[in-house]
Amino acid sequence: MICVMKFGGTSLSNAKNFYKVFKIIKKKNKNYTVAIVLSAPHKITNYLIQTIKQSIIKKNFKIIIKKIKKKIKKIIKNIFKIDTNIKIKKILKKSKKKFLILKNLLNKIKKNKKFSNKTYAEISSMGEYFSVLIMKNIFTAQKFNTTVLKPEKFFIITKNSSKKIINIKKSKNNFKNFKIKKNIITLMPGFIAGDKNKNKTTLGRNGSDYSASVLSVCIQAKKCEIWTDVDGVYSCDPKIIPKSKLIKKISYKNAINFSKLGAKIIHPKTIFPLKKFNIPCIVKNTFNKKCKGTKIKKISYKNKKNFFGIAINNKIKLLKIKFFSKNNFKKFSYLVLKKIKKHNISFIFKKIKKNLLKLIFIYKKKYSKIIKQKILKNKNILNFTKKSKISIKNNFALISILTKFKKNNFLIISKIYSYINFFKKKIFFNNKNIKNVFNLIVKKKNYIKTIRKIYSSIFYKKHTINVLLIGVGKIGSTLLDQIYSENKSLKNKNIKINILGILNSKKILFKKKGINLKNWKKKFKKNKKFFYFKNFIKILKKKKFLNTVVIDCTSSNTISKKYIKFLKLGLNIITSNKKANTGNFEYYKKIRYQSNKKKLKFLYETNVGGGLPIIQTLQSLQNTGDKLIKFRGILSGSLSYIFGEMEHGVKFSEAVKKAYLKGLTEPNPREDLSGIDVARKLLILSREIGCSLELKDIKIQPILPINFNASGNVEKFLQNIKKLDNFFHEKIIKSKNNKTKLKIIGEIDKNKISQVKLIKIKKKDPLYDIKDGENAFSFYTKYYQPKPLVIRGYGAGKSVTASGIFTDLLKII
Ligand code: ADP
Ligand code: ASP
Ligand code: MG
Repeated sequence: MICVMKFGGTSLSNAKNFYKVFKIIKKKNKNYTVAIVLSAPHKITNYLIQTIKQSIIKKNFKIIIKKIKKKIKKIIKNIFKIDTNIKIKKILKKSKKKFLILKNLLNKIKKNKKFSNKTYAEISSMGEYFSVLIMKNIFTAQKFNTTVLKPEKFFIITKNSSKKIINIKKSKNNFKNFKIKKNIITLMPGFIAGDKNKNKTTLGRNGSDYSASVLSVCIQAKKCEIWTDVDGVYSCDPKIIPKSKLIKKISYKNAINFSKLGAKIIHPKTIFPLKKFNIPCIVKNTFNKKCKGTKIKKISYKNKKNFFGIAINNKIKLLKIKFFSKNNFKKFSYLVLKKIKKHNISFIFKKIKKNLLKLIFIYKKKYSKIIKQKILKNKNILNFTKKSKISIKNNFALISILTKFKKNNFLIISKIYSYINFFKKKIFFNNKNIKNVFNLIVKKKNYIKTIRKIYSSIFYKKHTINVLLIGVGKIGSTLLDQIYSENKSLKNKNIKINILGILNSKKILFKKKGINLKNWKKKFKKNKKFFYFKNFIKILKKKKFLNTVVIDCTSSNTISKKYIKFLKLGLNIITSNKKANTGNFEYYKKIRYQSNKKKLKFLYETNVGGGLPIIQTLQSLQNTGDKLIKFRGILSGSLSYIFGEMEHGVKFSEAVKKAYLKGLTEPNPREDLSGIDVARKLLILSREIGCSLELKDIKIQPILPINFNASGNVEKFLQNIKKLDNFFHEKIIKSKNNKTKLKIIGEIDKNKISQVKLIKIKKKDPLYDIKDGENAFSFYTKYYQPKPLVIRGYGAGKSVTASGIFTDLLKII
């Protein structure tokens, strides 16, 4: 059984680590025939490439060479200290020779101001040469036989491949005469392949992973192990998010996507050949051998698990072109796009801003050369761009969030959206492939902070909901008191409700870190800051808050008209205010469109039935395929109370007065008795089941006699209704005689006609016993019939309504 093992630069950073690697290989060799691929010692490739860059601009490269020499010599000398059998003189002599070659090559570059591919490969791969030289001598000193493969003789790059893809078929053929043996340790430098003339060429930075993968295919290995400095593939770079999760198993496909998007744990090209030949790849930690690492392998659909990962690529560039005229823009953008297609350049982000005459492209650094040479310096294009402003910046980073779920996980996706909503101005957001990948492009200086925020908002158990409360009347105040008294139990559930602002039509109390709710009333009273809507919006725009909700506890039309603005600012909305849901249908639809688009929540459970779960029940019935056939309900607490009292013999006027004094009615009881409040609730329910109705479409059968004069102030009204005592008394007696009860109900019938009416209810009807201010809702549905689904309970009052808002609030998590 053959095992290919690749050790990266991080595993080969000093002599001790070289020896560690030796021991790992030795152990593996007990059960496996091994082939070893080595990278350059940590950072050496960077230094070598720097020497080339220095030479080409005729600058001194000697300081960098000194650094390289120092590091290599240190490894060699220290390895000798660990094992004195190692032939140190031989190694030093060979490395001296190599440094001489390096100097000569660099001098040549300096003189000619250019270099060939072969020279570049020769220089940049010297680190790998040293690694193999050292490792070979460690094995020899321990009496192991070794053989060293020259990758340029085996691996052949496909023709015209600027992407440096190895031709597997040809390469496999080159291994035909190679016989791998268990008692001989096969060593090979990674990162290199041969061109068609078998001259050295490199495989791209981090390319040793790819070398190991192709070698595994060519020698038919059982597995390919990538040894590095972390335990395996994590959901995010553990050096950025130390708490990120280790992925134990991952499919080839997910690993390919993840690495392509920038997870640099494995080179993007690595997995393709392994996938094709079904060779598992195991990522393991040189410094924590016991950990099983990550297995990348074929995973059947049945066993596929959700995959979540954040990849980072901070090697991206942003090209901005601003044109001076419309004409110039039109012709140029066409030409540029044509060239892009021709040269197969793929962009991470592309924006054509016609009205601003701007083109914006974000691309991977590897395309820099081709973009400069083939597009910006193209003769035809140059003519157009002479007067244009062109800027190329590299101060951006790409954050890609991969969310591959077997079933759509809306929770995570909406969390990502809630993040994006807040930072939209600061990030470019590419939703080209919205289903699985979210690409965010952020300023490089912010990228670590941004990733941490995204990660914590998705994974950490502590949830913070920021709240802006508008309206501190009875319900708003009770809500704050409830939140305060639940503080401890919320803490135990890892939930923090952060009250950022409390405001009413006059004043605003705002604290970025949250208002301590102890004595909030006093604080609010003392506070002298006036509330101006414009200033409030300014604060929201300036200070971005994640996961924030506006709670509207007013009955104000002015506030309900701002909902679209709130949503556009990335704020969720919870409202007990019925105005928006009962206003014109266009606005009703707009709110839903905007909240859907922004993946923000718009919750209004308390609009109907106070704290009773009416809206959510109706929504979930419909979401699960049920259909409302008919609805009947007692939707008004005050009317339920008034008619209940009358059944007990209380006069109509007395009952109304009692309800008024108990605070059960609207400030003006006429509103309740006019039936308009019930009509509003009925409208909300009908719209919920898909009827495009306006308030005027809800029929209201008059409750009070038509000729009754209901004018005047509340006092006068309460006085005047005494004249109706007999009228209602007679009705009550009549219905009692019929063994029915008189009730005002809201109804949606089979034909979706909604009306408020005063009717006699029979004993078997669930609404028969409803009194004392209770509400009741009977839903006759496809599944719930002939007996309806009934929800009953107190449908008004500050405590139940506030708790209904509280329930909505916890849905924001
Ligand atoms: P080597 O020298 O072994 O090739 P690299 O530096 O190329 O090592 O790759 C290993 C590094 O990749 C880790 O140290 C880690 O910081 C980084 N990395 C980035 N993304 C991930 C990820 N999703 N999981 C694990 N490591 C990651
Ligand atoms: N030494 C090369 C590099 O640093 C290849 C590798 O490490 O995989 O890019
Ligand atoms: Mg690597």
